[in-house]
Amino acid sequence: MNPIPHYRSFFDLPRVDPGYRPVKERVRDWNEVEKHLAPDELARQAARCMDCGIPFCFGAGCPIKNPIPDMNLAVLENRWEDALQLVLTTCPYPEITGRICPALCEGSCCNAKDSDAVAIRQIEREIADRAFAEGRMLPRPALPRNGLKVAVVGSGPTGLAAATDLNLWGFDVTVYESAKYAGGLLRYGIPDFKLEKWMVERRIDLFRQEGVRFECGVQVGADVSMDYLRRKFDGVLLACGAREPRDLKVPGRELKGIHFALDFLTRQNQVLGGELTDVGGEWSAKGRDVVVIGGGDTGSDCVGTSVRHGAKSVTQIEILPKPPATRAGDNPWPDWPRILRASSSHHEGCERIFATNTLAFEGDESGRVYGIRCVQVEWKGRQPVAKPGTEFFQKADLVLLAMGFTGPEKGAPSAEGLKNVWTAGDMATGPSLVVWAAARGHAAARQIAAALRAPVKV
Ligand SMILES: Cc1cc2nc3c(=O)[nH]c(=O)nc-3n(C[C@H](O)[C@H](O)[C@H](O)COP(=O)(O)OP(=O)(O)OC[C@H]3O[C@@H](n4cnc5c(N)ncnc54)[C@H](O)[C@@H]3O)c2cc1C
Repeated sequence: MNPIPHYRSFFDLPRVDPGYRPVKERVRDWNEVEKHLAPDELARQAARCMDCGIPFCFGAGCPIKNPIPDMNLAVLENRWEDALQLVLTTCPYPEITGRICPALCEGSCCNAKDSDAVAIRQIEREIADRAFAEGRMLPRPALPRNGLKVAVVGSGPTGLAAATDLNLWGFDVTVYESAKYAGGLLRYGIPDFKLEKWMVERRIDLFRQEGVRFECGVQVGADVSMDYLRRKFDGVLLACGAREPRDLKVPGRELKGIHFALDFLTRQNQVLGGELTDVGGEWSAKGRDVVVIGGGDTGSDCVGTSVRHGAKSVTQIEILPKPPATRAGDNPWPDWPRILRASSSHHEGCERIFATNTLAFEGDESGRVYGIRCVQVEWKGRQPVAKPGTEFFQKADLVLLAMGFTGPEKGAPSAEGLKNVWTAGDMATGPSLVVWAAARGHAAARQIAAALRAPVKV
């Protein structure tokens, strides 16, 4: 039993975060930037959980309903194996969400109403990391095979969550993935400094050992047809993501040196994964003035990647106004706080410009972009309106478009009009988060099991 007094720890103990490796050190490598809390500090952080009567952390916050207060208590009482089994009831990859989830649970934590949330994500990460380190993260036993076969198209977090559930319930599951390696955006979108790829491989290996089959380098619709999958399997789940990038159709868009963010990030991940020898001169940010258009997470990942390439300068432009430092009146607890956030990448050397629109790209005689004409905007309702006399020129010889995604890629397989074909995750809802992908993968697995009248393991 841990000696930390529990009943008023939320009152006495401050929230402590592990922080990041020093900027000077971390920008010279691609390794994870976030540090870890020491075990005794982690127990103190778990003690800050109030074990509320109504735990909004998972009631309102966590899409997969991780049993957070029970996990916190188990950690406080040094019962790490219990904590692991608890999180595995809801989360198929806690070492991944424990790293890259924005922690919607923390936005809804009762402590966050008047003080700082419990460090829930850190606790989840440590539960998983410790289990791996101590050899306790083992393949889970599946129910006997039920004779039903399901094909999952896409090996991102949605496909993985559905595949592992169905496999554990006794289905024969094959995941088809068009890329060389499984993992979807975990593998090809999110940079190593947030999530090292060996961790994705390690988790996929566990799923493989549990019985899920992976067929990588197979594009459904080109290498195998939907008709073939429907003949061979009792059900097909499409989890192909939402990767059609939003474009910026302004004069000069055709100039060289303007790329979609995900193409840029994918190339870097392919280099780190050994699929490419280098990103290629055209794609490198080295010595360049980089402008990232789009102020979200994808844009922030482009900032950290450009800094590591050795960019001369990095600027991130966002059309929306700068968010407030604290919750606005129309954004009460327990909703997710829409406040200004700075990622680890922002601290590595980046200027952020808000409420600014792009008017045109300007190029040199060689046809390469050398700058952007911008204008400040004022928001009138949902409409950005240019402020007269605020036009300015922003130097840029590499522009990365990170303005979100409009839906599934053109030519992606479709479930329309087909019996026993389902769609889930970003492909069905539009771009979202890994934890939502997990939730939607779980839900799709249940729908498939119900439709095929197979029992599920609870
Ligand atoms: C750059 C970036 C950073 C992000 N960072 C975070 C973060 O830090 N935290 C967070 O929670 N969320 C983050 N997200 C969002 C998160 O990654 C996505 O919401 C999540 O990956 C969606 O999962 P998915 O399985 O639905 O789709 P995806 O991850 O896109 O996976 C879809 C898979 O389907 C495959 N596929 C597509 N078509 C076919 C076909 N015809 N045949 C076979 N396979 C096919 C694709 O190759 C891909 O592997 C980020 C997104 C991006 C773009």
